[in-house]
Amino acid sequence: TQLVTDIICPFCGTLCDDIEVEVSDDGKKIIKVTNACAIGAEKFLHAQSPDRIVRPRMKQEDGSWKEVTYDEAAKYTAKILCDAKKPLMYGWSSTSCEAQATGHMIAELVGGVVDNTATVCHGPSLIAVHDVGIPSCTLGEVKNRADRVIFWGCNPAHAHPRHMSRYSIFSRGYFTTKGSKSRKIIVVDPRPTDTASVADYHIQIQQGRDYELIDALRVALQEGPLPETVAGVPKEKIYDIARLLKSGRFVTIFFGMGVTHSLGKNHNIDIAIALTADLNKYTKAAIIPMRGHYNVTGSGQVLGWQFGFPFCVDLSRGFARYNPGESSANDLLMRGEVDANFVIGSDPGSHFPFKSVKVINELPSVCIDPHMTPTVAVSKCHVPVALVGIEVGGSCYRMDNVPIESRKVVDPPAGMLTDGEFLELVLTEVQRIKGVA
Ligand code: SF4
Repeated sequence: TQLVTDIICPFCGTLCDDIEVEVSDDGKKIIKVTNACAIGAEKFLHAQSPDRIVRPRMKQEDGSWKEVTYDEAAKYTAKILCDAKKPLMYGWSSTSCEAQATGHMIAELVGGVVDNTATVCHGPSLIAVHDVGIPSCTLGEVKNRADRVIFWGCNPAHAHPRHMSRYSIFSRGYFTTKGSKSRKIIVVDPRPTDTASVADYHIQIQQGRDYELIDALRVALQEGPLPETVAGVPKEKIYDIARLLKSGRFVTIFFGMGVTHSLGKNHNIDIAIALTADLNKYTKAAIIPMRGHYNVTGSGQVLGWQFGFPFCVDLSRGFARYNPGESSANDLLMRGEVDANFVIGSDPGSHFPFKSVKVINELPSVCIDPHMTPTVAVSKCHVPVALVGIEVGGSCYRMDNVPIESRKVVDPPAGMLTDGEFLELVLTEVQRIKGVA
């Protein structure tokens, strides 16, 4: 066997870059994965699954699947996109920046709407960043400097399992040589989570009252007056937390969907950013969203370079428009405003409301995904592709906007295309149909 080191884990936004994989001498089979958490290791090992689907398939009238070639699948994809007045091209968060860029070229030619999974996770954070900017930092700075860490509405113990050991709680850095003993950890969550169980303080906030508590913390930083309780938290506790934060050398606030998708949405993030700015009057403070899919941050970056907006980009009029709530995937599906559905690198069939999934089921549709997912089940064409970060390399962005190059570890199954290669086939066919070079 041979050991491949310094591998990126292509699962969550922590994008751990210290994975080691033992592969067979012929470089075809993964034997063992070390350093990854259970979910990360499983992604590598799943690439070896004997029941993996390795050829594109079209759904037949009786619901069965018929194997087709990649060329046939590319022709079908190009046709439904070109025939549609307003195709939805959704997902992008579990593929490389290079594949995203090729897909966006197709979207521009066919006048599609490009939306990514931020639409159902950190979209409100992106809207807030437009409104008020963001004082942020890298995870390396958190590791080396942060002595006060808040996890607000997120549970990395389950969703980003190595975040705490590599960066935010247990890791030892230049100014944090005692690891967790160098830091005070605060978890704000209505639930007693596993992350809360390792925190110094668990603030059990009332569900959906984040805005009030963040506002109260801003008041408490200035020792201003507070009512007896805010969001179910006694005022003495709020003053204590404010003093604790002010006494730190470097505060980092990590936040998740408990804040972005509870009452207040982007306004919760506006005010969390304002709290971070306030803290910078007393100490150094930064705020970082806990991004989920390993390259959802990259999708926002690539859309930003190409069209100026990080999600919900509507190209149907030949130029980029951006209006979350109008040009977001779920709103378009539920209002019946799209007439073809293209999914890559995500699984709306599992995560979108039933009403949206029913619409996908009715539309001409394609799903590009290495796995059999609920989205595949409601799509007309399934295109399995090589796994980015395991069977093909590519650029990805970590949750703190640091780009990291993922590496190829093993060969994909014989004859299987990467998503970049498949999108190139679709692009060529779209160019042919549209009569452009
Ligand atoms: Fe992979 Fe995330 Fe686990 Fe790191 S924490 S090994 S990136 S799943």
